[in-house]
Amino acid sequence: MSYTIEEIADSINAGRIGSNDATIDWLLTDSRSLAFPEETLFFALSSKRNNGAKYIADLYTRGVRNFVVDKPTLKNKDIDTADYPLGNFLVVPDVLKALQKLADCHRSQFDIPVIGITGSNGKTVVKEWLHQLLSPDKNIVRSPRSYNSQIGVPLSVWQMNKDNELAIFEAGISEVGEMRLLQKIIRPTIGIFTSLGGAHQENFFSMQEKCMEKLTLFKDCEVIIYNADDELISNCVSKSLISAREIAWSKVDKERPLFINSITKEKDYTQITYTYLGMLNSFRIPFVDDASIENSLNCLGACLYLMMPSEKISARMAHLDPIAMRLEVKEGKNNCVIINDSYNSDLVSLDIALDFLYRRSQDKMLKRTLILSDILETGQSTTNLYRRVSQMVHSRGIEKIIGIGNDLASVASRFHIEKYFFADTTSFLKSDVCRDLKNEIILIKGARSFEFERISEELVAKVHETILDINLNALVDNLNFFRSKLNSKTKTICMVKASAYGAGSEQIAKTLQEHRADYLAVAVADEGSELRKAGITSSIIIMNPELTAFKTMFAYKLEPEIYNFHILESLIREAEREGVTNFPIHIKIDTGMHRLGFNPDELPLLIKRLKEQTAVIPRSIFSHLAGSDSAEFDDYTRSQIAVFEKASTEFQEAFSHRVLRHISNSAGILRFPEAQFDMVRLGIGLYGVNPVDNSILQNVSTLKTTILQIRNLAASETVGYSRNGKLTRDSRIAALPIGYADGLNRKLGNGNFYCLINGQKAPYVGNICMDVCMVDVTDIDCREGDQVIIFGDGLPITTIANKLETISYEVLTAVSSRVKRIYFQD
Ligand SMILES: *Cc1c(COP(=O)(O)O)cnc(C)c1O
Repeated sequence: MSYTIEEIADSINAGRIGSNDATIDWLLTDSRSLAFPEETLFFALSSKRNNGAKYIADLYTRGVRNFVVDKPTLKNKDIDTADYPLGNFLVVPDVLKALQKLADCHRSQFDIPVIGITGSNGKTVVKEWLHQLLSPDKNIVRSPRSYNSQIGVPLSVWQMNKDNELAIFEAGISEVGEMRLLQKIIRPTIGIFTSLGGAHQENFFSMQEKCMEKLTLFKDCEVIIYNADDELISNCVSKSLISAREIAWSKVDKERPLFINSITKEKDYTQITYTYLGMLNSFRIPFVDDASIENSLNCLGACLYLMMPSEKISARMAHLDPIAMRLEVKEGKNNCVIINDSYNSDLVSLDIALDFLYRRSQDKMLKRTLILSDILETGQSTTNLYRRVSQMVHSRGIEKIIGIGNDLASVASRFHIEKYFFADTTSFLKSDVCRDLKNEIILIKGARSFEFERISEELVAKVHETILDINLNALVDNLNFFRSKLNSKTKTICMVKASAYGAGSEQIAKTLQEHRADYLAVAVADEGSELRKAGITSSIIIMNPELTAFKTMFAYKLEPEIYNFHILESLIREAEREGVTNFPIHIKIDTGMHRLGFNPDELPLLIKRLKEQTAVIPRSIFSHLAGSDSAEFDDYTRSQIAVFEKASTEFQEAFSHRVLRHISNSAGILRFPEAQFDMVRLGIGLYGVNPVDNSILQNVSTLKTTILQIRNLAASETVGYSRNGKLTRDSRIAALPIGYADGLNRKLGNGNFYCLINGQKAPYVGNICMDVCMVDVTDIDCREGDQVIIFGDGLPITTIANKLETISYEVLTAVSSRVKRIYFQD
């Protein structure tokens, strides 16, 4: 649906500057995601650290003409509307509120059932499953992916159009007060409360407060669906005075509206019988885990309320598909990078995936390729649909398209790039086009019936079953968490040394660059040049520059740390020989760490030397704290800071240009806010560990493997080398394809520690071998092929580090390079 700019100005009560005609179809909040400039309205959202108005100039040159800005932005002259004669500016007191108001007005146009889903886990799965269950009969609009925030919800609601018969939206909150705002935008008529976990708990007074807050979503619902066996939810619902009908389900209380008589788990499905309105019925789902069962019961409640016949429910439940919520980046054969998006194939998710591809492809050496299937189930005309698709494909810089399916083939002429079309997946897999894929970054996106998993299997390099899973959203959350502790002008250096603390520097650096880290720092020049080759353009500091690598540093503009006269002289000599001038360097002084650095009393000589040459120029001066994580050393830390304050001031006074000052690492940021100076150096915190109390912020890295083999052994047997694994009972022993050569410390063997299998602790039995280890799974319901967590989600890295009497830094960086890194974002 589109609106004229006048209509929008009216509905958000905006003042207007510029009187150009415009029709708006798309709302944009992140300038990097632009696809359709002419029909886009950009909301210049500002946060403490960033002002969206900064991007207006760039967007204008890319063709965007319509902007929502706030009054302070104009008052402070952050932009001058006179510079944009073709633009329309809608001026409001608060840009986020305006976005929400617009969604609210849009929502008012519709009088259809709207399902609102909240809870800590399972929101997206329930939403997608409901879509699978209901979409054969109804035209449904739903939140893309997990768009459930203060910004995501308005963008989701904006997708509603006249053809829709049902809407399904998620709502997620992180602070008290937010749900009320989301309720006003979604206005659900059917509410589903999935489950209540611990996420974001830090901002809540108590679980109860959190639960009550979430329930405000259901204020005006006709019905709410929830697990009555969850006491907290159940109590809060009674207290909340919501007058809605309830479809509360229970496995124990027959008086509840939906009674679950039995749940029977078989090998690969679960059979569920239930009583509703006095009728006994049953269905099965092709899953056996508890979370899936709970999600299916919430879906059941909604289907029953919508009066779906029980035969239909059971026919459709039996075919529920698993929900893959991740965009995965994997290494492919022939130097390809594979981006796998098995998420539902629809226009919005295609747009998100293309945007992701575009941002990941700064490396100009790789061709941007899209493998796309026909888009099913959209309810739009083919012409309209593929006109959109071709616009997206062209605007995201795709260079080659491989279309699979007859619809795509019929619109081949719309694509003005290298193109190939196939009737089905099999004929593509057999073709030369498939065989010849080389040096490309490939997005694979297909509707389920096209079985694109066969394509990714073919293209992805075979991996060892052991992988390190890297959550890029968590990394960004951690970055933002630390940024929230900084003054608005303080810059951030993100440490990506040691292969980004084991997470893999290239993809991590790309993500950090995208989120505008001011600097990146690595240990040696080669790490820096690898990043440059991968398309990283941020400033990069080399912490331990080698005397032999200056040429590399000049060639790739890698800025060395300089810690003594010897290295300074060598660098100046080399720079003069190469004709390099004003090369940026970073001066390190020793204030008490006693590792590397100039002594403060050497500064006068250093200043003199720097002033008599032009080959290099100091861009920053810094020092490193020896014990910022511990109160025990606070006096020492304060004296380091004082020495640094004095020395760096003396240094700055000698130069007319600004020299940035920095001393804090992750722990310093948290414990010494007064020592932020101009920059901070953020390391371990980015990767999810709070160095002060060893808690986990958002977990980034999870080391995972799978069960290779399970055997039953009698109590008299032993397991592994030197017969060290002595059994004391008849046991089930599982072998896992991970050993000390992968970074699994041998000291963890012989019952000293455990891994997690299906959420339960499986102790290591006997000695850990080079490539394999064995664990006791006697008490665990598991089978060959099941996933195993060595550390990460559910098993904090800090617990392993404590056991090994070391620090999480060592455990993270010990994961060997043969373990494949897989990156994902929700
Ligand atoms: C590694 C490193 C950091 C980052 O320290 P964290 O404790 O990981 O935050 C900061 N400064 C220097 C000089 C470093 O070598």
